[in-house]
Amino acid sequence: MCGIFGIHGHDEAANIAYLGLHALQHRGQESAGVVAGDRGLRRHVGMGLVSDVFDEKTLSRLPGAAAIGHVRYSTAGSSELRNAQPFLFDYAGGSVAIAHNGNLVNAEELRTRLEAAGSIFQTTSDTEVIVHLMAKVPEFDPVQRLLSALRQVQGAYSLVVLADDKLIGVRDPHGFRPLVIGRLKDGYVLSSETSSFDLIEAEYIRDVEPGELVVVDGGGLRSFRLQGAESSPTHFCVFEHVYFARPDSLVNGKSVYRAREKMGMRLAEEQPAVADVVIPVPDSGVPSAIGYAKQAGIPFELGLIRSHYVGRTFIEPQDSIRHFGVRLKLSPVRSVVDGKRVVVVDDSLVRGTTSRKIVKMLRAAGAREVHLRISAPPTTNPCYYGIDTPTRSELVAASHSLEEIVRYVTCDSLGYLTHEGMMAAVGAGAAPDGTGCGAGYCSACFTGNYPVPLGKGGAGELVKLRRDRV
Ligand code: SF4
Repeated sequence: MCGIFGIHGHDEAANIAYLGLHALQHRGQESAGVVAGDRGLRRHVGMGLVSDVFDEKTLSRLPGAAAIGHVRYSTAGSSELRNAQPFLFDYAGGSVAIAHNGNLVNAEELRTRLEAAGSIFQTTSDTEVIVHLMAKVPEFDPVQRLLSALRQVQGAYSLVVLADDKLIGVRDPHGFRPLVIGRLKDGYVLSSETSSFDLIEAEYIRDVEPGELVVVDGGGLRSFRLQGAESSPTHFCVFEHVYFARPDSLVNGKSVYRAREKMGMRLAEEQPAVADVVIPVPDSGVPSAIGYAKQAGIPFELGLIRSHYVGRTFIEPQDSIRHFGVRLKLSPVRSVVDGKRVVVVDDSLVRGTTSRKIVKMLRAAGAREVHLRISAPPTTNPCYYGIDTPTRSELVAASHSLEEIVRYVTCDSLGYLTHEGMMAAVGAGAAPDGTGCGAGYCSACFTGNYPVPLGKGGAGELVKLRRDRV
């Protein structure tokens, strides 16, 4: 649950990175940072939102034609300044800056091994493991150092790296987390989502492919392949489409908005309700609710209004803040729901506490019936690949029947989208490997079938230089 951004070949690289991070703010609000420069790199990071961390003065201290940036929500390592990224380290090969979206499933065993060999870690983040592995490689070229480090790590990673005069972007062989390439004037940009390209008026070119490493320097953009990537099945995180990515983004080459709308349409077919009005839980439930209303032929209205001046409840780390946050963020529109049979469309039901409060609010505002519809299957398992879902014991669908959840949430009926329906909405075919995931996607938090086991194996190795495909 982080956003990463990189730019090379622009006189105001730090300013552009700052703008790019604004359009990725939904991916993390705990800390933000930028490293910029050419050969000498400078860093500024801080806790809070992008607009809190940067101002004209701090950005003016980050000169150079290349920059990387990061917005963070912690999935590994605590929420504190020392874990704010990008990290910047000096080693025998020079300086390297790195920003990471994802989660390394074997980071702990690697860290234990490195510490036993004398490494001193400055953070508690899994990302620092990559830098220590790079430092140990007897190679001068930072690309070779990075490839050697990645050979030893396992799990989910999309990375942007600045080293020497090079901007490097890489996705793990399974492609869990997104990373896209764009063009801005004579330079290149990399980002978690295309939402930042729209803001800075960059042209979207394509996604970095799973298992691909791209290097941008004075010679343009070159593409490399990690060894083993060809034989690694792709497991793009379906939750990016369901909840996490911005609806105006393209992720995995597809419109997030359209995928959510299709989920809602399919949900209406699978879980119909006799009702007077369809309302979304804003913001991420809006496209699915539009799809549901279209398909069901029931009017769509905004029956809940979200305050945009507080963060998202799902990703706030403390329970006490989360519970308080629901009341702060959402309020019902009495004129829409009073006396009505209401279908409420949400994108997930995780603990059930938020849904319970929403149902209570709607009934207090006069709703006659409340039918809850979820545009995803029941969340029954935690994520180990970079999304901060709660532990299994906190996931209400992991240990309760549908009837029990209906009683807890106090709704009149509850219906989930099927796994098949979700996969059809994102255009995935049937899983060829029997893992239960749709072809090309990870859906382990809905199925418990984890495509990469915890703590085993290694990633890729550079085997050949490919033609520049941009
Ligand atoms: S487990 Fe769920 S949230 Fe995690 S990568 Fe897989 S689909 Fe995404």
